[in-house]
Amino acid sequence: MSAQNVVYLDNNATTRVAPEVLEAMLPFFSERYGNPSSMHTFGGAVGREMREARESLADLLGCGTDEIIFTSCGTESDNTAIRSALTAQPEKRHIVTTRVEHPAVLSLCKFLERSQGYRVTYLGVDAEGRLDMQELEDSLAEDTAIVSIMWANNETGVIFPIEKIAEMTRSRGIMLHTDAVQAVGKIPMKLSETGVDMLSLSGHKLHAPKGVGALYVRRKLPYRPYLIGGHQEHGKRAGTENTTGIIALGAAAKAAKAHLPAENTTVRALRDRLENALLAGVPESRLNGHKLERLPNTSNISFKYIEGEAILLLLDQLGIAASSGSACTSGSLEPSHVLRAMGVPFTYAHGSIRFSLSRYTTDADVDYVIDNVPRIIETLRKISPYKQGVADPLSPLDSKPPCGC
Ligand SMILES: *Cc1c(COP(=O)(O)O)cnc(C)c1O
Repeated sequence: MSAQNVVYLDNNATTRVAPEVLEAMLPFFSERYGNPSSMHTFGGAVGREMREARESLADLLGCGTDEIIFTSCGTESDNTAIRSALTAQPEKRHIVTTRVEHPAVLSLCKFLERSQGYRVTYLGVDAEGRLDMQELEDSLAEDTAIVSIMWANNETGVIFPIEKIAEMTRSRGIMLHTDAVQAVGKIPMKLSETGVDMLSLSGHKLHAPKGVGALYVRRKLPYRPYLIGGHQEHGKRAGTENTTGIIALGAAAKAAKAHLPAENTTVRALRDRLENALLAGVPESRLNGHKLERLPNTSNISFKYIEGEAILLLLDQLGIAASSGSACTSGSLEPSHVLRAMGVPFTYAHGSIRFSLSRYTTDADVDYVIDNVPRIIETLRKISPYKQGVADPLSPLDSKPPCGC
């Protein structure tokens, strides 16, 4: 299926490369192939363009250009940040994170806990996906090396109060990392005025291509590189730079900064129209995540008694691309670890669909989904194995760390 006839509502999984981004990056695949570390003008010119890209990204984040390290993806940024904090503070053996993080943080924490003997606290969330600030405060210990809490959740769009969290960690002298892969470009930020110490972002969630990301590291923060080798990225991340990707990320950051204020209104209005129509048009449907403390582009809706995968399949036949929770949990019968942490009842959690919009989503896209989803749900409910009216087996509210991927 081509991009022309797909209604793409899976932007939290990945986004279309913006036309201006593609245009900016193309020459770096062909004639502008110089190595920015070379002494000659041909390579040096590429280095200059990279500096401009770094400036655009720093402008979007509200930080200094010397505080940005380009990486290969959001996952690398997350891994680097957490490992750096642990390596730089070897006497500290405790990590604080949440039960609803992306696997890039969660699986690493589980690994560090099981194989390296670190203590990890996994903070819970309430029924609307929000953190308990008191629980966070109580979890902080003398030997807490790092607090790693996402800025916005990829499955529900729920936004955590990172600035407030940063005040708390800073006053205790504890490093704070935030996975802001879903927040960058959607939430205005000025990192120089917050206590955030490290922040991860990813190009392909921001209308740049796959294979490029960045890590913000506050100036003077103790830092230990993950990749060791050459002097690239001020000695903080070795390896010849992905010049094409970095130029693209710079262009994407520039576009995000320009679009952000308007998108906050236009994308939110489209999302709300979609969400309100589906919740009103389908009986026994519910919104997952706090109604207001949420990204403007994300809507996670549960349709009781049916499998999310079945809905996805029928949506796919109609050319609608959405997601049933995170990619790591779909394909298995485990309900999403995020919805489980929120205590969403089993018969709802299985039938959850995430619609995630972008600046390219149109009114016609939303109309098409509104026109088709209620009928799909009705069809599937007729063949659902669940008996309506039977009591819900509650999702297991176990305290073991979630997500098996
Ligand atoms: C997509 C995503 C990541 C991983 O980013 P990649 O660039 O795909 O490695 C990490 N965290 C969140 C919240 C994400 O949505």
